[in-house]
Amino acid sequence: MTAISFFGLGTMGLPMAINLVKAGHDVTGFDIAVEPRVKLERAGGIVASDAETAAGFGDVIITMLPDGANVRAVFEQSIFAGAPRGALLIDCSTIDVETTRDLAEKAAEKGFAMVDAPVSGGAEGAAVGKLSFMVGGANDAVKRALDYLEVMGSKIVNFGSPGSGQAAKACHNMICGITALGVCEAFALAEGLGLDSGQFFELCKGAAAQSWILENRCPVPGLAPNAPSSNEYKPGFTAALMAKDLRLAQAAAKTLGMDTPFGADAACRFTEFASTGGGDLDFSAIYRAIRPS
Ligand code: NAD
Repeated sequence: MTAISFFGLGTMGLPMAINLVKAGHDVTGFDIAVEPRVKLERAGGIVASDAETAAGFGDVIITMLPDGANVRAVFEQSIFAGAPRGALLIDCSTIDVETTRDLAEKAAEKGFAMVDAPVSGGAEGAAVGKLSFMVGGANDAVKRALDYLEVMGSKIVNFGSPGSGQAAKACHNMICGITALGVCEAFALAEGLGLDSGQFFELCKGAAAQSWILENRCPVPGLAPNAPSSNEYKPGFTAALMAKDLRLAQAAAKTLGMDTPFGADAACRFTEFASTGGGDLDFSAIYRAIRPS
């Protein structure tokens, strides 16, 4: 049994923390919101009243926070000051590569091991412990992290140096965002040309156009019963998070002076959709803004 501190008990963090409790670990959670703390306590976790106390408790400290600014604040204000020396820090949030590399350097200077381990798989994957982790960090740190990642996920890919987990996540979600726009545009065009959407869906599922996005996030309501589109576009993965991840990919491309025009276009279009009322809907709802009215 390991003492684990868990920061950020939201959509993803709470079920991840609960799976660690179920695996027999001693989990102390902290969230700035009260409701998730109550839920963790009900599931057998311990709740810290402030961030510093939470940091002091864990030999392993896991963060699952909204963005890079939150992660930097929690690391610099609470974890670096309060965590036991030698603690293993695992950041599962999706943040920019540069912040991750900077925090990994600072963590090493202070005697902490750090791993970046952003995830794919959404709330469904988090609930059943079947997330995919994209991991970066020094070998020893990654080896130590595996015991905990294996509780929360079923696929763990180690990309090597610090920040490379975040790099993989940015590139992975760039594929998802671009694919989603392609699927939405093709279904809108098919409808405009008078095709039956159901027939077209069946064709694509068994042909070269097949993809996870097509099958699981089909944007036309009623075709895939478990897709968010068949449930009023309730997420799933929100358009706001998709826009954020696509912007992170663009930030990474910029550090290399590299143009990724499809990714840039997807970042603009999801950002616009998210900021004009679609942010809390599943990303596949962008279909509504694309299809002919
Ligand atoms: P969320 O907004 O549901 O949860 C974030 C939690 O962090 C909230 O409960 C918030 O109160 C808490 N928080 C914010 N600042 C804090 C602080 N300083 N100290 C303690 N708690 C703080 O977000 P989420 O959907 O759980 O996503 C978390 C991370 O996982 C994000 O980086 C997101 O991009 C990534 N992610 C999300 C999904 C998804 O499907 N939701 C999938 C893959 C990756």
